[in-house]
Amino acid sequence: VKKYIVIIFLTVAFMFSAFNQVPPRNKIKTIVIDAGHGGHDPGCNGGDSKEKNVTLSIALKLGKLIKDSLDDVKVIYTRDDDTFVELYERSAIANRNNADIFISIHCNANKNKDAYGTETYAMGLHKTTGWLDVAKRENASILQESDYEKNYDGFDPTSPEAHIMFSLYQNAYLDQSLVLASKVEDQFREHNRVSRGVKQAGFLVLWKTTMPSILIETGFLSNASERKVLSTESGQKEVALSIFKAVKQYKQLRETSK
Ligand SMILES: [Zn+2]
Repeated sequence: VKKYIVIIFLTVAFMFSAFNQVPPRNKIKTIVIDAGHGGHDPGCNGGDSKEKNVTLSIALKLGKLIKDSLDDVKVIYTRDDDTFVELYERSAIANRNNADIFISIHCNANKNKDAYGTETYAMGLHKTTGWLDVAKRENASILQESDYEKNYDGFDPTSPEAHIMFSLYQNAYLDQSLVLASKVEDQFREHNRVSRGVKQAGFLVLWKTTMPSILIETGFLSNASERKVLSTESGQKEVALSIFKAVKQYKQLRETSK
């Protein structure tokens, strides 16, 4: 009898260890959509447009497209109204809900008013100071949080060295994040936007997520013609549709790959 117990124990133990080695499931069941900024954090501005309003509108439109046409997918928003949510809490929401994809939506701004186009980021080391500047601007949101020194392991958002250090943090989902990011940029091109490409930088909101995660800069609010696209209903719909198509393609790819 003892022998059988040992055999059963070993079989169960083996099954558990085999189970633990299974890579992340290919089925995309839960998507977390993160509208950048909110509440007392307006994000960047251009004309009368505030980033927090543009990102919320695009996020809700994207969520609706997913809910309407992908029956098997659950959509979770990090915010669905004008409230402030800490950056660490946004990734924590995705982790708690075992999300399969995390999408953070933002708008860009630059002192050079001629700058325009879309960019999609994955977590990683920036190749140019321009990429770093985007991450620094987005990460500065934590300065509006009451306890940021505690919640980001002492990270100083004003220090370039701190950005380099933490962007080297290995992310197991980098390859998948880059696949999703390039699909988003491809779709922007298909929808007559100018793509500035797929990039990498150290974004606090992507740092601790445990699934493929991207941050989309949907265009420059500092550029007059792009601001028109981003602040109109039709323009926002187009942006949401582009991201939706990319998500759908990515979902098909994941679910048909071995
Ligand atoms: Zn932003």
